[in-house]
Amino acid sequence: MAILEQVEELLAKSGKEFFSSTEIKNLMAEAYGTNPNSVLPPDYCYNRTNNGIDKSGMLKRKFLIRIESGQYRYVGFDYKFNGYVYQKPHGSKVETIVGFWKDGIYSEVRQPENDLEDLNGQTFIEGSTKQVTVNTYERNSAARQKCLDFHGYNCKVCDFDFAEVYGEIGKGFIHVHHIVQIANIKREYELDPVKDLVPLCPNCHAMVHRHNPAMHPDELRERLCQKNV
Ligand SMILES: [Zn+2]
Ligand SMILES: [Zn+2]
Repeated sequence: MAILEQVEELLAKSGKEFFSSTEIKNLMAEAYGTNPNSVLPPDYCYNRTNNGIDKSGMLKRKFLIRIESGQYRYVGFDYKFNGYVYQKPHGSKVETIVGFWKDGIYSEVRQPENDLEDLNGQTFIEGSTKQVTVNTYERNSAARQKCLDFHGYNCKVCDFDFAEVYGEIGKGFIHVHHIVQIANIKREYELDPVKDLVPLCPNCHAMVHRHNPAMHPDELRERLCQKNV
């Protein structure tokens, strides 16, 4: 039996509804001698998931609801849960929404399509396109996260904050624009997620791309400031 099923069985047998993370880990240590680090309550939650660990079918096998940090409510498998699934990317302070449940059916929340912008080799790294494609996605999502951990999730041009305006569904949503320096076009170079990537709302993002090559976000910001004086 997988750890997840062992935990579920122990909690069901206990007859209790609310558990702390420590209680769950202790139950497993007592019953099976399981290393507490192998017991991952966030992964058993309908509304929460660990960074990157919970990638596959486990999403369907949930039995907890996270109440607050380290506090969980046991509801069992096949619960008709309604609500968002949150994830806090490693090292990040901001939670993002990765999916939602409607009457017990899970759906992924789509990330902005421009996540992969300019990293697919269309404007640079011409000599090494194939090599890059293999793990483009992994690299890009890590780079995106580093950019957002540093710059935050507000648009760098107009300061738009999706979470503030749209509430829960806006959490973690923002495009990431890749600033390609003229000198680097058609040359292979090491991407600096803080200097070369910048969070932009879709409107501002579209505006910088009205120019080809794209206008620098600082320039768009200046234009916007002048206009609004
Ligand atoms: Zn904007
Ligand atoms: Zn862009």
